[in-house]
Amino acid sequence: MAVTKQGPSDLQWRDKYLTLNEKYDKLKLQVGTRNEQLRRGLVLVSLLAEGQSDPLDRTLADLRESMRGSTSDLNKTMNLLNGQIKEYDLSQAEHSAALAEKISLMAEKLCHCQIPKKLVNEVRALRKAAPDALNDWQGYSHQLEGWAGVLSTLVTLDENSGDTGKGPWWKKVFSKEKTSAEKTEPPEAAITADDTNGSDEPAEPGFSTIAREVASALNGLISRLVVPERLHQRSDELQKRLDDGLHWYEFVSLLEDTSQFLLDCLGSGQEEFERFLHSLDQRLQAIQTMVSDANSGQADREDARTSLETMVRDQIDDIRGVVNGLGDLGELGSSVREHLTTIVRAMEHYQEVESQREARLAEQLEVLQNRLTEMEAEASQARQIIEDQKKRATLDHLTGLPNRAAYEVQLGEELMKRSRGGRSLSFIICDVDHFKQINDNYGHIAGDKVLQLIASTLKKNLRETDFIARYGGEEFVILLPGTQADAAAGVAEKLRASIEACPFNFRGERVSITMSFGISEFRALESTEMVFERADKALYQAKKSGRNRAVIA
Ligand code: GH3
Ligand code: MG
Ligand code: MG
Repeated sequence: MAVTKQGPSDLQWRDKYLTLNEKYDKLKLQVGTRNEQLRRGLVLVSLLAEGQSDPLDRTLADLRESMRGSTSDLNKTMNLLNGQIKEYDLSQAEHSAALAEKISLMAEKLCHCQIPKKLVNEVRALRKAAPDALNDWQGYSHQLEGWAGVLSTLVTLDENSGDTGKGPWWKKVFSKEKTSAEKTEPPEAAITADDTNGSDEPAEPGFSTIAREVASALNGLISRLVVPERLHQRSDELQKRLDDGLHWYEFVSLLEDTSQFLLDCLGSGQEEFERFLHSLDQRLQAIQTMVSDANSGQADREDARTSLETMVRDQIDDIRGVVNGLGDLGELGSSVREHLTTIVRAMEHYQEVESQREARLAEQLEVLQNRLTEMEAEASQARQIIEDQKKRATLDHLTGLPNRAAYEVQLGEELMKRSRGGRSLSFIICDVDHFKQINDNYGHIAGDKVLQLIASTLKKNLRETDFIARYGGEEFVILLPGTQADAAAGVAEKLRASIEACPFNFRGERVSITMSFGISEFRALESTEMVFERADKALYQAKKSGRNRAVIA
């Protein structure tokens, strides 16, 4: 037997070359996988960001197109995106500020009504939180819930509660409007007349005034939303209800509907996200408590101002008394000086207390600001993680095909469609022949590469409407809607031939890889397990009778 001898350095060089080649293959695979993950990540993030504004959506669609390998200019798209995001942020901020202004006006009017102090505090807390809250959707939702709570308390204020002393405030307002209607005067005129009836109590704004403010604030809120197509009708209905004028008896339900609509717009049906929102809500409550403290500080401040005013008024009354009662100018001068000194001291004291209070408030505000910033960052991080996890849970990491769990879901959907439309559905299970030998002979990494190439070859040879998943190891499953067993066998044969023709090369050596296929069609009254079992048996037959073939069950 002729044996070609090789020198030791030749062998060393060959080994070195082979090791380097294998390293290169490994690195290339890692880079490819990484690129694919980044590309998928970018597509997912762009999908997540969709629905904010039309031009932004169009640019995001372009971006995804570029990710799919289109020839469009990625640099140009990124620059455009940058500008649009800045514009979008600006217009959002303007809108939020205008809405916060409206809420502030409405709260101001409400605080002038004779309502319990606790409720006044709640209204003030909400008003104070509005400018920051309106910067994100969770804040919006929280504001709406808060206002719904305030209004439901308002409409249920009890006659005997002693808070108002005159029965439910809305009843009073409502009966006023009714009386004015009977007199055929416009309701607003009636309210204005009542407001100036000489009573010492502060005037209450009529329900209609508040209702108009609320309607306009809600309208502003809804018009700011980017409403998904499926919710357009509900958005129109809500806006019509707001435009038609609000009635006290439907006030709370309307707010609840708006709140629910807002949540639906957010489209956050996922449990994880709800859990996250729950924890966010708890943290917001903690912040709300801080805001309430700040508000009670505000109330103290008003008390301090009132007592200063009373004191100054008393001192001035005393001075008047002295001026009117005394003829001696010297005595008058010293008395006035005394009173003025008292006033100046009281004012200095007031100013000192005031600046201490302001310093405390500024500190609290800074803490609040920091917490909000932290929460914003956490919110966007959590969203990203949830989306990533969801995607990862349904995709096979190695081949990028749907995994077994995704197959189970798809199977359920296809069976539903089949039962509705009565169309046929076929199933194929396929398995790589002697795959263990590939691992044994060329290593696991080479085996992985083969699985990737097989997955893309199978996918390429199927229709858009067909579904393929990696069932596990070197086994794949395929669903063929609208296809009977004979036609499915034709598909399996095409797949078999395409795999056989695949140019697998290992270390410069051409290696033939084949697959075996089992086919079954879903029959009436047959369980999915039975269909699977029949196809699996057919696959076993294909293996037994020599592999590299397709067998119909
Ligand atoms: P048969 O023709 O009868 O199917 O023979 P086979 O060697 O393909 O079948 P067997 O079930 O004995 O071996 C399957 C092998 O597939 C064993 C396992 O190590 C390998 N395998 C499963 N999953 C992976 C994977 O993700 N990557 C790699 N490289 N190998 C895998
Ligand atoms: Mg197998
Ligand atoms: Mg196998």
